[in-house]
Amino acid sequence: MGSEAPLIQLQQVSRSYHTEGNAVTALDNISLTINKGEFVAIMGQSGSGKSTLMNILGCLDKPSAGHYSISGQAVASLNPDQLSALRLKTFGFVFQRYQLLSTLTATENVALPAIYSGMQKTERTARAQQLLEKLGLSDRFDHRPGELSGGQQQRVSVARALINGADVILADEPTGALDSASGEQLLDLLKALHQEGVTIILITHDTLVAEHANRQIHLLDGKIVSDSARPAAKTEDTSPSTTAATVKVFPSISSTAALSMAFSSLRLNWFRTMLTLLGIIIGVAAVVTMMAIGEGGKENVLKRIETIGTNLISVRPGGRNMRNTGDIASLSLEDANALKEIPGAMYVAPERSSRSTIRYGENDFSGRITGTTPDYLYAKDWEMAQGVFFSEEDITNYAPVVVIGDTVALSLFNDRYQAVGKYILMENAFYQVIGVLKAKGSSGGGMDMDDEVLIPVTTGRLKVFGSDFLSGITIKAASTEIAKPVSEAVLAMLTQRHGTEDVMVRTTDALVEAVTETQNTLTWLLASVAAISLFVGGIGVMNIMLVNVSERKREIGLRMATGAKPGDILKQFNIEAWVVCVLGGLAGVVLGYGVIVIVSQFNIPVAYTLTPPLLAFVTSLAVGLIFGYAPAHKAARLNPIDALAED
Ligand code: ADP
Ligand code: MG
Repeated sequence: MGSEAPLIQLQQVSRSYHTEGNAVTALDNISLTINKGEFVAIMGQSGSGKSTLMNILGCLDKPSAGHYSISGQAVASLNPDQLSALRLKTFGFVFQRYQLLSTLTATENVALPAIYSGMQKTERTARAQQLLEKLGLSDRFDHRPGELSGGQQQRVSVARALINGADVILADEPTGALDSASGEQLLDLLKALHQEGVTIILITHDTLVAEHANRQIHLLDGKIVSDSARPAAKTEDTSPSTTAATVKVFPSISSTAALSMAFSSLRLNWFRTMLTLLGIIIGVAAVVTMMAIGEGGKENVLKRIETIGTNLISVRPGGRNMRNTGDIASLSLEDANALKEIPGAMYVAPERSSRSTIRYGENDFSGRITGTTPDYLYAKDWEMAQGVFFSEEDITNYAPVVVIGDTVALSLFNDRYQAVGKYILMENAFYQVIGVLKAKGSSGGGMDMDDEVLIPVTTGRLKVFGSDFLSGITIKAASTEIAKPVSEAVLAMLTQRHGTEDVMVRTTDALVEAVTETQNTLTWLLASVAAISLFVGGIGVMNIMLVNVSERKREIGLRMATGAKPGDILKQFNIEAWVVCVLGGLAGVVLGYGVIVIVSQFNIPVAYTLTPPLLAFVTSLAVGLIFGYAPAHKAARLNPIDALAED
């Protein structure tokens, strides 16, 4: 007591395994002290507990009973991150089967543990190559394990054990898989490291190999049967050291390191990554496309309403509970004239329409004939291309005149500029064309808006419609703001005049509202279908990441054995899932826009807005974070010993 604590001190350590009911005692009450700078060979036949002892010494495993301390620190008091730090800095493992990652170069394999001690990439690489050079592998930097001999691979793994400046090298049968010449070479290397002050603990069942060490310990059935340093196998000072744990924990791996690991692993499995991405890509693309089509439809309808004007009020016959057969005789020209008295009702245009055919020479045109007044032109904000609209005088005089749309002019006269002044035949009477309306083009739905045939409402009543009532009245309020009060006044007046509420009065605002609501519902319906596919994509990501974790158990075990914290593994796999989803999200947005462009070629209205792609992208990120977590968590919880045993 009082002197410096020994590097390694085991006191009555036991380890038993419980499998399917029966317990195996692999280590039985072992006490052992190893000092700094020793070269110890642990020997014993197969099953005697050598590997179990080694795993406990290297903090990969915990004793079932007894006390273990490193430089006076009780290992039992250390948390998982501190244990990782010990594996990272204090110990370097050399395994019988090298345990190199086959996809990394020699340099990258050596540099692997340095990622977890936070060494920068350039420094890691330089350090790794320096070590490889020292171990005689200066011409093998970029070779992968498959391109190296067994002896060379084992030297790479020794270099890896040394990169963080390990104090202790734990080598479990390092020569077991090597030919004798390579074995000799490796032992010379270990001896040289011992000369430099590294403590070496070597497991072997070869007495020739063991002779290279300064101290030989024999195990049999989990007990130490001989120890060349302490032939009497005396029990050590049994008071356990109680120094508080002061092991420094290393910060988590940098995000750049995690990202670059993610990319290289995805590159290795690029085809599978592509298939995984497909779910996310289709999901995001579907969201983007569906929302664009939904929004486009809405904008289109709204634009059409906008062109009508937002201060229009339409009056139709038929009350709330009446079925509108189009023939309800509840609106009259007198009603229309009365409505003109309402303040704010700027234009009041009665409408009466029916279908008919008009002729000029050989040509005819079938369509809707509308009887109205000059207010119609102003209420609708239409303009004349040729001639004039009919006047109030034409109304009072029952003038046989007609104003036609561009399409009608073209189909009757083959030339829109020839129409004015000509006489057309309709229902056995002649009408003079006095004006042609300015073309308005077709609406987004492909509907022609230039097929108007307008005659004075009085003339129509006399010669075409045969009865008095109107099909509707269009009123233009002086401004959008007063549209609602005016519409209320209109309803009140008509209800009063008719003695009952037998008309429907609507403002365009109400129409806009109704349309917006329907279209929004449609948009969200489309979006939720798309969101479901995104969700399915997320499940795909989770599935592939779980497969990924199972396949890479050995890699995960190795990373943990060389010092990765559970949190580092968690971060690596989370970032990997995240990268998949970011790439999938980006590709999905691009594909979605591609589909939108194609769709818009077919005259389907679409809206290029930023929200849906952003939404979809963010959702795909969230999908990555959520669905990537379970696999990453699974990886981080793997037991490194079991993971290393995987093939
Ligand atoms: P050695 O390395 O000397 O061959 P081990 O330490 O691997 O011996 O094993 C010692 C004993 O513990 C053996 O009887 C073995 O079957 C048992 N053992 C080792 N690992 C496990 C395990 N994970 N589960 C159950 N028994 C185990
Ligand atoms: Mg073993």
